[in-house]
Amino acid sequence: MRYYSTRNASGAVSYAQAALAGIAPDGGLFIPEEIPSYSRSVLSSLGSMEFPDIAFETIRPYVHPEIPDAVLGDMVRDAYPFGAPLIAVGKRFMLELFHGPTAAFKDFGARFMARSFSYLRRGESKPLTILVATSGDTGGAVADGFSGVEGVSVTILYPKGRVTPLQEKQIAGPGGNITALAVEGSFDDCQALVKAAFADEELQKRLVLSSANSINISRLIPQAVYYAAAAGRAVAGKSDPDGEATPRAGTAAGHGSGTEDRRSGQGVSFSVPSGNFGNLTAGLYAKAMGAPITLFIAATNVNKTVPDYLESGDYKPRPSQATISNAMDVGAPSNFERMASHWSYEELNKSIQGVWVSDEATRETIAQVRREAAYFLDPHGAVGWKGACELDKQGKLPGGPLAILGTAHPAKFIEVVEPLAGRPPLPPSLARLEGRSVVCKTIANKLEALKEILYA
Ligand SMILES: *Cc1c(COP(=O)(O)O)cnc(C)c1O
Repeated sequence: MRYYSTRNASGAVSYAQAALAGIAPDGGLFIPEEIPSYSRSVLSSLGSMEFPDIAFETIRPYVHPEIPDAVLGDMVRDAYPFGAPLIAVGKRFMLELFHGPTAAFKDFGARFMARSFSYLRRGESKPLTILVATSGDTGGAVADGFSGVEGVSVTILYPKGRVTPLQEKQIAGPGGNITALAVEGSFDDCQALVKAAFADEELQKRLVLSSANSINISRLIPQAVYYAAAAGRAVAGKSDPDGEATPRAGTAAGHGSGTEDRRSGQGVSFSVPSGNFGNLTAGLYAKAMGAPITLFIAATNVNKTVPDYLESGDYKPRPSQATISNAMDVGAPSNFERMASHWSYEELNKSIQGVWVSDEATRETIAQVRREAAYFLDPHGAVGWKGACELDKQGKLPGGPLAILGTAHPAKFIEVVEPLAGRPPLPPSLARLEGRSVVCKTIANKLEALKEILYA
């Protein structure tokens, strides 16, 4: 597969070049020259295939021939010892994407990216230095994904005192090839430092630099996998037993009366809690590949740039506002450029319904779903749930199964969830963190301070 920049359709690059560079030299995002299709035999067996096999079939055309099939097969098995359970909650499904090591969906992208970087850099003598700025969740997933990966060292910048203690343990706990830097400044300052580092000629000469943020194509592609897997299962009328991560108290409260309520056999609608729109873009790839998907719901918090665009046709990025679903506090979603370069406004409007949800409604939803269906939602999943309810009320949803993406485990946002719904169970991945010590360095918000650490 060859890749182009969203801003220049002439210069094609390989998967390796697109993945390792992260962003195109002209500032655009890399997109594949075409979106491949699933074979007929894969489409007819999506409902019964194992997760790593769907991962293999989904990712293969995007990385072929640079990653040989045997290597890719090992990579996806190693990256995904966990899957994405589809859990019946009332008449709907929750697609639980938080069974990985950092209990959020970013594990799916980060774990594949790390393994693919390691393979693409095999035999190189100079290590690859990855720089990432994080407001919380990305840093944990990247730290875990790259921890112990040979030939790669990772430096993560986060705003000092502005991530949760749990997030800090995920970012600054692994040590080894992962360096955690608490920057005296905001997330925007961290991002500006990373940008300045990439623009610095001396740094570029001395190190082999790469980024691992959510615009990287190698993080995006693996996120198409769980849409295809879930759509296949829902259409086949299958779901999974309650995930261990959020077991429901006792009885069958709110379980609904069987799959016929959830209208198997028809294409699936997904409600996607969205911020930077990488997750939803990956869903559009899965649909374009032929997965049985009818509609996406772009559910945001008050940072509703994309829902506004879908309604008006005007794209107006703006500064972000803080909310309780803070991984979605994005006013200028970076993946919008990718969506808009693949599809026209009319096409996007056919595939996506936009909706936004206030913090107040998000809180009510967490309490209500716990009460009525004995299920714990995290604030992001709650935005997806409530958004779907709103559109359903307005008669804007097609028939067929509806699945809401659970993008983070509720225990990750215990400060919000516990007062509303009681204490969610702690999954083993998060329980393990409790005894973990944090090793980080504090640095001034200055490029010189960052350079000193990188040269050390
Ligand atoms: C990153 C994140 C999102 C937003 O995903 P995008 O791909 O940026 O739209 C939603 N929920 C959680 C928990 C996240 O960490």
